[in-house]
Amino acid sequence: MLPEKSKLKIGKHPDKVVIARMDKIAFPEICPVCLDEAEDLVPISIYDKEEDDRRYLTVRSEGKDQVAPFLAETKGAVTFWIPTCLFHGSRSVATTKKKVMSIVGFMIVFYPLLFYTLGVITALQYERPLIPVAAPLAGILIALVAIIGYGFYPRALERHLKFIDIDRATSRFSVSVKNDEYRKSLIEQNEMHASLATEMTDNLEECKG
Ligand SMILES: [Zn+2]
Repeated sequence: MLPEKSKLKIGKHPDKVVIARMDKIAFPEICPVCLDEAEDLVPISIYDKEEDDRRYLTVRSEGKDQVAPFLAETKGAVTFWIPTCLFHGSRSVATTKKKVMSIVGFMIVFYPLLFYTLGVITALQYERPLIPVAAPLAGILIALVAIIGYGFYPRALERHLKFIDIDRATSRFSVSVKNDEYRKSLIEQNEMHASLATEMTDNLEECKG
């Protein structure tokens, strides 16, 4: 018999997904990425909005900003505090500030990008030397990739721990865990409140109330 997990999305790889009670979960004191001893704590806030019968889930890491997660909770978000090592900790998550900086950086390089692109086109048309315009253009393109990567590429932590869904009615959430060891210890440590999505047990059901 399947417990009421129907409402909770579990994604495409249920064998990697852990379903747990959000009010009871305790994340292991090891880094989800490298399994080193935890020395940092990263808040990850999940916003769950319902509009026109559709649900929107936004996951945000707040990085070193200590106020943001509490602010998020007043807006109805659920915040999980994840122990990580220093290297994969709060300094390395893609925060809102980083995204804004990334957009600003993009605007700064946009004009030179346009300028040198036109320069290359003109040089090709009139058979002028290409290197003086092509070299800066290549540099700008590399900078552009770096800027976008800096702000938007999901950091190691976000790739190893993907929050998929939350269900307030049963106070459960689903999270995809990439590292086998970490997934095992997450379940072991929360044996009454967490389970693999593929092995939803009755015992999880019992402790629901
Ligand atoms: Zn680590």
